[in-house]
Amino acid sequence: MRATDFDLVISGGSVYDGGGGEGFRADIGLSGDRIRAVGDLSAAVAGRTIDATGLVVCPGFIDPHTHCHVDVDRGVLHCDNLLRQGITTVIAGNCGGSGWPVAEHLAKVEQEGFKSNYAMLVGHHTVRRIVMEDADSPWPTLEQTTAMQEMVRQGLEEGALGVTVGYAQRRETFEEIVAFTRPAAAAGTIYASHIRSEDRGLLQAVAEAIEVAYHTGIAVQISHLKTNGPANWDKLDLALEMIEGAAAMGLDVAADRYPYTGWHGGSTNIMTPWCYEEARKRGGREHLKDPDIIEHFRREVDDLLDGFGGPERLMFTSLSEPDPEIDGRTVAELMALWDVEPIEVALEIERRNEDHRIGAVGFTMSEDNLRRILAHPLVMIGTDAHLEVFGRTATHPRNYGTYPRVLGRYVREEGLMTLGEAIRKMTSMPAERYGLRQRGRLRPGCFADVVVFDPATVIDNATFADAHQYPTGIPHVIVNGQVAVGNGVTAPEHFGRVLRREE
Ligand SMILES: [Zn+2]
Repeated sequence: MRATDFDLVISGGSVYDGGGGEGFRADIGLSGDRIRAVGDLSAAVAGRTIDATGLVVCPGFIDPHTHCHVDVDRGVLHCDNLLRQGITTVIAGNCGGSGWPVAEHLAKVEQEGFKSNYAMLVGHHTVRRIVMEDADSPWPTLEQTTAMQEMVRQGLEEGALGVTVGYAQRRETFEEIVAFTRPAAAAGTIYASHIRSEDRGLLQAVAEAIEVAYHTGIAVQISHLKTNGPANWDKLDLALEMIEGAAAMGLDVAADRYPYTGWHGGSTNIMTPWCYEEARKRGGREHLKDPDIIEHFRREVDDLLDGFGGPERLMFTSLSEPDPEIDGRTVAELMALWDVEPIEVALEIERRNEDHRIGAVGFTMSEDNLRRILAHPLVMIGTDAHLEVFGRTATHPRNYGTYPRVLGRYVREEGLMTLGEAIRKMTSMPAERYGLRQRGRLRPGCFADVVVFDPATVIDNATFADAHQYPTGIPHVIVNGQVAVGNGVTAPEHFGRVLRREE
């Protein structure tokens, strides 16, 4: 008997190599963890064959924007909501947060196993909290700044791919961000920014992100680029012009985006942050009987809903046990149901939040702008996702549906961009930007991360009402040469690896 030429051959598919071009008919041969051949392999002997006739074969998707480090830190590692979308590499540590120390965090991932490959950035907020723990001032001293820079260097040495800032407390000065990113710039890495404002201050925030590139030379990734709130929808032209202008003058600026116009978050941080903070500071709710304070909250809530574009754009979901009276209802619907003003809805939600956690979904983004952002050549696809225990509590549909939604809804149904371009935004573009040199392409020598999907049927099934739905039309996902999803069934093993920065 002849020895096998390849461990696995994926035969007869339409191969998209990730570079942006259209597909060509070819077989691909994998052995060990690598792609060994692309071409006519009909004469080869394979250990196993996957028939991809009528299907697209492309590099595994590289998700530049996840929050998986939070899941790892709380011991949730083995969910397959990302893998089933075709995501073979996740980049964790975003919006300013990350695991720390990097070496320990990555060792944990290695020990416990992960379904996709795993890489991480160093979070500014994470580092800042450690350095500033006992600080008197909200701003770092020169010494504290130096300490943060030293931690960035350490994190990069331990394998982080770059740094991330999230403006969690909005105290960070421009100077602090520049100082924080300098060591990452010196190492030739990337800075991912959840920019200072995504609504009223959007244009200043885009300018600030670009100025970091201007001052340090670092590659800047604007995370989940959006125009939040109808009053800010017309700012997209200028925002894109600024990004294009920066790129034209040689600065390395790009962005990512998820294909949804709604966001999802905890209501304590959204509808009644002042109320919540006051109650926490005062250790009770007595002050809510004070008409002056209520009047102040009323103005805040009205102002907030104005910014969202009206009370029908904010919907509640349960984050712990279900609350049938409010789950899936908007502020407008609750106002009608209870015959009350927005402030009373806010106070009632805040009160219920003490018993069980309530989340909010805001439909405050523009579909037209979403299309323009997704199609822009400097924008790649990213989920902004978490690992999800199947069926547990309300969550954002992007956790299950981001990549199939772009491929099915925006490419096949709406023709927003070519399939080759969409695949580039999911593969080689993030790979190059984040320094993953041997991934994101289907060519001999690269790591064998491969997705096989049906271009005629691929689609997301997750919705805001029921997010725990796997997509349709992605039968096979290969991670490091191993069949991680075969015929729609996830393997129990963990084939992902930790990806550390390559010097
Ligand atoms: Zn963010």
